[in-house]
Amino acid sequence: MEERGSPDGDPARSLEQGPEGPETPIQVVLRVRPMSTTELRRGEQSVLHCSGTRTLQVSPPGGGPDMAFRFRAVLDGTCTQEDMFRVCGVKRLGELALRGFSCTVFTFGQTGSGKTYTLTGPPPQGERVPVPPSLAGIMQRTFAWLLDRVQHLGVPVTLRASYLEIYNEQVRDLLSLGTPRPLPVRWNKARGFYVEQLRVVEFGSLEALMQLLHLGLSRRRSSSHTLNQASSRSHALLTLYVSHPTPQQVPPVDPGEPPVGGRLCFVDLAGSEKVAATGSRGQLMLEANSINRSLLALGHCISLLLDPQRKQSHIPFRDSKLTKLLADSLGGRGVTLMVACVSPSAQCLPETLSTLRYASRAQRVTTRPQGPKSPAAKPPQQVEAELLQLQEENQHLRFQLDQMQTKAPGIHGAREAWAQRNLYGMLQEFMLENERLRKEMRQLRSGRDLARAEVHFLAQQVHELERHLHSACSLPQQGSAHVCPCSTGPAASCHALPPLCSCYHLCPLCRVPLAHWSCPWRECCEPQALEPKAPGHKSLSARPAPWVPSPGSSKTPRERCHSDWTQTPVLAEMLIGEEVVPSAPPLPTRSSNMPSMLRGGSGISNLTQRLEAFSHQTSSSLNLGQKQPQPTEGMQSPGQGLSPC
Ligand code: ADP
Ligand code: MG
Repeated sequence: MEERGSPDGDPARSLEQGPEGPETPIQVVLRVRPMSTTELRRGEQSVLHCSGTRTLQVSPPGGGPDMAFRFRAVLDGTCTQEDMFRVCGVKRLGELALRGFSCTVFTFGQTGSGKTYTLTGPPPQGERVPVPPSLAGIMQRTFAWLLDRVQHLGVPVTLRASYLEIYNEQVRDLLSLGTPRPLPVRWNKARGFYVEQLRVVEFGSLEALMQLLHLGLSRRRSSSHTLNQASSRSHALLTLYVSHPTPQQVPPVDPGEPPVGGRLCFVDLAGSEKVAATGSRGQLMLEANSINRSLLALGHCISLLLDPQRKQSHIPFRDSKLTKLLADSLGGRGVTLMVACVSPSAQCLPETLSTLRYASRAQRVTTRPQGPKSPAAKPPQQVEAELLQLQEENQHLRFQLDQMQTKAPGIHGAREAWAQRNLYGMLQEFMLENERLRKEMRQLRSGRDLARAEVHFLAQQVHELERHLHSACSLPQQGSAHVCPCSTGPAASCHALPPLCSCYHLCPLCRVPLAHWSCPWRECCEPQALEPKAPGHKSLSARPAPWVPSPGSSKTPRERCHSDWTQTPVLAEMLIGEEVVPSAPPLPTRSSNMPSMLRGGSGISNLTQRLEAFSHQTSSSLNLGQKQPQPTEGMQSPGQGLSPC
């Protein structure tokens, strides 16, 4: 075949040059595949004709107006794989990669239009059956050329390779040691978008590289449908990393990180397809949708990149994994070559026109090629200076922040503090706080249970003492003029019930004012209600504890003891009653207000004191009861010490 790249407007020669100034357009080469035997059998006509080496004529069937599309190079179905390799300009990209540039070759077009064929030749016929050399694609030819070039460079060059596919929006490592699993796509300022944990394999020979290629090709997803017997169902990216190890070079921080240097990436895109035309169903249809979606995202990015105001506009590279990984090639620092593939068949005309328009637009997209700057290659002084500069800036910013916070404290400061705290820190704080509250709650509960048990025990003791008291009171009386019903009756004592007799005669036994009904002088006296009420009279609850000597009282404990026992049922009730039991109140809002002894502790000590006094009085009463009657022992005779009726 005659060489398409003629000296007049020689695309091959122009592509051999280096990056064209600060902005370099994406170079687009068009390849028209030959009519397939199936298409010829169906009698389909070709609607595409090459006019010269750069222009493609489209003649729609039915006599519509012809259309012309111009590219850097156009190759028709008569071109061989070797022609393609020579004309497309991939060698220029290889040279740039050796000089440290980031270069990309990608094929684009409808499914079955010859993308995979152009890059890697026809599908392998068996596991270990290599592609015949004459049919080998751009990739195999570039590998051979690059290794040959490296051998003749005379400087040590390290070559590595990675191979991945994007299948249903998941990145899978085609060179992984085990079963390929989805890998995340990350971004950082130095590297741009990259695939984390991607296996990067060093190779030293063409055979080793070919093995990697075949491994990846055999693992890549492909299926059969009406338009292609071996249709790729994923986008595949094989990247060659070229680096020049120098004595100063520091090994990469991340073991999975590719070495700093140039790279050459081959992208075999899965083809856009009309699901109706390919007859895809089920999984095939899902794959087709995913492919079409990512290609749509790619087209959208290219359209936006054409916008002259694009520096101000946002390019949605994050819309798909494909656009993320091609971000550098499309709008960044890379040098890019696009091989658009079309089918000449009239049946495929709508898709062909779409590809031609897409490719025409893409060649107006420019990039700013830059040799990658290696931070590791920087001299130590420069790194140190940068570090100092950053430290100073950091200090300055901190100072400014402090000033702002002092000027605008309150809500603003609180908001900033809130924003500064990350969620994880807050979560930890809450967890600690909750743990502390839980512990406090446990202590309170156990304290409450203890207090309840103690109160119950005390109440039992009170009842016991009361029982003893009553039995003591029921001892036989001797020589008593007025027998108090408390000594003969059951638990209800004569003087425990109101009204009292207003003469205030005391019971000779228990030494309390007699009830009106039991007073021998009741005829001349008025009954007195127990409470409320005379001035100075205190209600039962307001009265001091019976065993507490009132100030100025001349009564001895023994004098008071019996009368005070009149309140024992009340006291017992109080002790058993719920209101006296130290309870667990609602949790305090501020735990710092909690006494060291748990709530209810003071109640317990009160009760204990009371019980001690109570027990003391009981034993006194018992002694008294056993000594009765002893009129001389502090017992007043009726009328003594009392106002007469
Ligand atoms: P795509 O990758 O675009 O879906 P393929 O590369 O798989 O398409 O090609 C589909 C079929 O067409 C394959 O059988 C392939 O061998 C054949 N084919 C494509 N381009 C050419 C070409 N230039 N010469 C001969 N056969 C081709
Ligand atoms: Mg393919």
